[in-house]
This record gives sequence, structure tokens and C-alpha cells, in this order.
Amino acid sequence: MSQRAVTRQTFDEVMVPMFAPAAFVPVRGAGSRVWDQDGREYVDFAAGIAVNGLGHAHPDLVAALHEQAQKLWHISNAFTNEPVLRLAQQLVDATFADRVFVCNSGSEANEAALKLARKYARDHFSPEKHEIVAFSNAFHGRTLFAVSVGGQPKYSADFGPLPGGIHHAPYNDLAAAEALISDKTCAVMVEPVQGEGGVIPAAPGFLEGLRALCDKHNALLVFDEVQTGVGRTGALYAYMNHNVTPDIMTSAKALGGGFPVGAMLTTDKVAASFSVGSHGTTYGGNPLAAAVAGRALEIINTPEVLGGVKWRHQLFIEGLNAINRRHGIFSAIRGSGLLIGCELHSDYAGRAKDFSRAGEAEGLISLIAGPNVVRFAPALNIPEADVTEGLARFERAVARVVKG
Ligand SMILES: *Cc1c(COP(=O)(O)O)cnc(C)c1O
Repeated sequence: MSQRAVTRQTFDEVMVPMFAPAAFVPVRGAGSRVWDQDGREYVDFAAGIAVNGLGHAHPDLVAALHEQAQKLWHISNAFTNEPVLRLAQQLVDATFADRVFVCNSGSEANEAALKLARKYARDHFSPEKHEIVAFSNAFHGRTLFAVSVGGQPKYSADFGPLPGGIHHAPYNDLAAAEALISDKTCAVMVEPVQGEGGVIPAAPGFLEGLRALCDKHNALLVFDEVQTGVGRTGALYAYMNHNVTPDIMTSAKALGGGFPVGAMLTTDKVAASFSVGSHGTTYGGNPLAAAVAGRALEIINTPEVLGGVKWRHQLFIEGLNAINRRHGIFSAIRGSGLLIGCELHSDYAGRAKDFSRAGEAEGLISLIAGPNVVRFAPALNIPEADVTEGLARFERAVARVVKG
């Protein structure tokens, strides 16, 4: 059977037009390099939006997928399976959690977390205790509940009526959060570093303060670690960088190293509010996804990989500062581990996309986080030479934009 030729143009003809993909079509990746249909090579500073934590085609992940593919692909949750049990055991051993629900994406993990928080409050307190406090500019995914709790109205405004009882405080404003949290609050949902919202780390004391407010009002503290989890900040999960433990935590993105998988983690007590039939999924906990995630987690949760995030962070910060000294484009360079955001100087306001497009022309894949922030989220194991080469290409892209 022959395959029909497809190009970037085909996207405009047959896909629902809600993405604006790059002008080239990637066909192959290895480590932190990607090749397109024309054989052009790119350095990858995006890792599929913080997903390919171990780069492309990591031999151990390929082997785990291949091995499982020959055994059992799918069996449904009418049965359990060995890979998902191993994955859940690994997550329980490595975190605060006693219990794991495995699904297919970050949005689904957050949907489960929010439903669980509502049900837990109803089981232990009353139906009036249903309010959710979240933060402006937060991103929690694209289901209707997730865009409603997310703090970016552009993602929810056209889809009303939205679920109710949701309030937003400015991120890092503990006093504003305190004013919204009451005995009617069932959960506070927060990212330890806002990712899509501009790569904004929690201010010292902010997460600790939310923990205290949740304890005071019997509300559950939910950390959305979809982007910050699985090594991204140099800790296995970002909460481990703080003196705070959540009641529920969600994980996805790097968890499967590129294979779609998500997870919601919680304690025995909270998990008990999801009884048989309360919630469900057809694919969640699929053996293929679980086998790959288990292997990815095993490799990432080691001093070698987590420790390597630290020197790579330094390398990026030094390189970006040097570029900024020569071109004066950034007003701030910030982030945690290998989640790095560069805020554009007001002269370049709204032009983050121009920098990433110019990067593509120079052979670099990068990200943005809103209109004013260039974001880098490379593989955790990106080789030093690729960081150096990628930064050189980025500087050429910067020069292009600066020249106009
Ligand atoms: C990407 C992301 C999500 C959504 O994950 P999907 O897999 O796209 O559904 C949720 N929360 C955060 C913090 C994210 O970065």
C-alpha cells in the first residue's frame, strides 16, 4: 500500500484550523535534534512543550514500547494490568501520594482532581462547600472545567455557560487569595511555577501560605504539576523544592516522555471519595502508555538526570544573559531548572512569536509563554554541545528580529 504525499499545505486543507503549526513538518527526532521533510536539522529547545523529558527516541523508551507492543496494547479498566500497577507503585514510592489514577492527558488529570475535590467536600462537609479558588493567568488544560478554573478568559469566554463557584486571585498575591478562601472553598488549584502564563515561579512563602489557608478552611490544596513535574525543575516534582505537600497533585507531559499519559495522585483519605463508578476512563492506564511512563520515571528519578538539570540551567542562564548584554532584548530571565522564560523588553512587547519564528529559520525550535515571553523547555538530558549550538542559533535569530 502506498502512502499519499502530505505537506504543511495539507494541514490547511483538512485539519480543524485551531493551530498555527510551523512552516516545516518534522519527520524524525533523535535526542535533542529534529529533522523535517526536507532533511533540515533543528536543535530542540521545546521538547514537545516540556514533554520529551529524555529527548526523542530514547533507546530505553523505544525498547519499553516495543517490548510492551508485542504483549498487550489495551485491555480496559475491567481489568488491571502489570505496567500500570508498576507505574502507580513507583509514583507512590517517590511522592507524598498513597493512591494514583492514571489517565491520558493533563486536562484529564485536572478534571479528575477538580471532580474529586468537589465530591470529597460533599462527602465530608456539605454541597455548599463547592467553591474553587485558582489564579489569574493559570493554565490547567482545555476541558470546560479546566478552562474555567484556568485564569485566561480568552480560553473560556466563548464556551459558556461555564461551571460556577470558581474564583481567581492574582498569582503570588497571598492576601488576595486569603480574601477568596472561605469555609465554602473545596479546593485551591495552583501551578508551583506558572508555565503557559509566562514562566512565573511561586514567590517565597506563597505555596506555604496557601497550605496554611487550606488547612484553616478544610480545603484541599491541588498542585497542577503537569508542566513542572517529572524532573523539569530539577526535583522530581516541584513541590519537593518547597516545604509544602499538596493533597492532590496532577502530572502529565514528561510523565510519558512523549507517549500520552496523565496521572492524578492523592492520599488514601481523599481517594476514598472516588468509589467504583464515580469516575472513569477507557484508555487511562493503558499498558503501552504505562510501560513507557514507568521506564521514563525510572530513568528521570535518578541523581544523574535530576542533578544534571542544575548545570544545564546555569548554562542556559549564562548564555541568555550574554545574548542579552549584546542585544538588550530581555527585561527579565527567570524560571526553575529547565523551564526558563525570557520576558521581552517593552520595545519588543507582543513579539515573542517573532523570536521563535526567526529561531525556526535558524534551525532552532523554541516556545513562547504568552505574547511577551520566550520560553525554553529542552529535554532534561540535552547534551552541552546542543545547548551551545542552540543558543548560537538563537542569537542569530535575535539579530534577525532586532535588525527588523
Ligand atoms: C499542558 C498543561 C496542561 C494540559 O495538559 P494537556 O495534556 O494538554 O491536557 C494542564 N496544566 C498545565 C500546568 C500544563 O502546562
